[in-house]
Amino acid sequence: MEKPKKILAHVCCAVDAIYFLKRLREDFPNSQIVAYFYDPNIHPYEEYLLRLKESERACKILGIEFLEGPYNLEGWLKKVKGYEHFPEKGARCVICFDERLENSVKKAKELGCEAFTTTLLMSPKKSQEQLLKVGKKLEETYGVRYIHKDYRKGGGVQEMNRLVKEKEIWRQDYCGCMFALFQQKGEKAFLDTVGFSGRIPGTKEEHIFIRSLKVVAELLDLPTKEEEFTFLGWFPLIGKLQLAKSKEVIPSLVVPFSAPIRGIAKGDIVKRVGNRLYLNRQNVVIQLEEELKGFPIEVPKTSNPTFVVEKKYEKKLLTDRIVATLDVRVEFVKSRNLLIGNPEGAQVIYLLPADTLFDGRGISIKEVEDFIKNEKQRLQTGNIALAILGAQSYGLGFEYLKELHPDWIEKFRPAPLEGNFLQEQL
Ligand code: SF4
Repeated sequence: MEKPKKILAHVCCAVDAIYFLKRLREDFPNSQIVAYFYDPNIHPYEEYLLRLKESERACKILGIEFLEGPYNLEGWLKKVKGYEHFPEKGARCVICFDERLENSVKKAKELGCEAFTTTLLMSPKKSQEQLLKVGKKLEETYGVRYIHKDYRKGGGVQEMNRLVKEKEIWRQDYCGCMFALFQQKGEKAFLDTVGFSGRIPGTKEEHIFIRSLKVVAELLDLPTKEEEFTFLGWFPLIGKLQLAKSKEVIPSLVVPFSAPIRGIAKGDIVKRVGNRLYLNRQNVVIQLEEELKGFPIEVPKTSNPTFVVEKKYEKKLLTDRIVATLDVRVEFVKSRNLLIGNPEGAQVIYLLPADTLFDGRGISIKEVEDFIKNEKQRLQTGNIALAILGAQSYGLGFEYLKELHPDWIEKFRPAPLEGNFLQEQL
């Protein structure tokens, strides 16, 4: 059969794409390949962004053109309505393949591609028969050839795993949709579904920050390396302080590692020590500060539910009853440090946090991106290196960096960037 001049490859994720696209290019060396990321089945949106960024990165590594399709979540949900409780590989997945491949074949036609395929063919959890049926049906309807390749055979999966490890490709831990997520993870799915303002340690938001900067560095041909660690993460779900009679809500921040409150705590302030007020219910503490802002925290000695409130509310707090609500989760999660450049040989290693303080303040991606671009030459010549530290508002990234590389300690300096709270910590 004649080789197509242009092939559109639908991309589902970076893990499947990195090996599938490599093999596709080997089989079709004279064809132009366009990678097309179309995944409205990925929930929540932060997970979508993470897979998008990583797929883009995989295509950059391979030197393959990358396009993003629309995030048509509502359309996808309408199509699978009634099939929410089907298991993976069941009828919902057939609809999901149909929808993604139909959009892809239309895109292929629009771009003048003579053939289309999908990286879903690489996934061990997907049925080859289902994909073949869907692909062939679309080939007939749209007149665009469907390329069906099972690159998993003959050690393909092992080779894919090797490549994923070598290229430090991020690996997702569920198929993609919210239904599979809840079926697979049960109660633990909450961590995937809650979006946090700022970048709380161990969340998708923190992870997107790290991965985006990895792409920036790689585009400038700077070496990167990740060092992952596990820690006990703390995640606030609801936190509220209210005056009982006036119903006024008092602006507050919750101090990390505060314990949850059972139901509500309704009580009076019965003790004051320094700037801390103590409620006579469930060990609730209110810490008075000039400004409502997140500070780098020290590991707390107790886990009393603690709210930070501005001093100007003190009188109101002392003259009314207080109603406090707080729900949190504690889970073992992962974070990582990202090293950019050659820290071994560098004279200075600049440090900056990947996460934000608990009020959401921190360094923006743009700020770090500009810093990397401005310092490109010194990073390339090995003069300086950069360490982007995960979970640093808890002091963890830096501790882990020192633990792994005690001989670098003399070279560490906080990166001179606004919002780098390491300048306060070191
Ligand atoms: S389990 Fe995966 S393939 Fe099946 S519907 Fe959900 S996202 Fe689509």
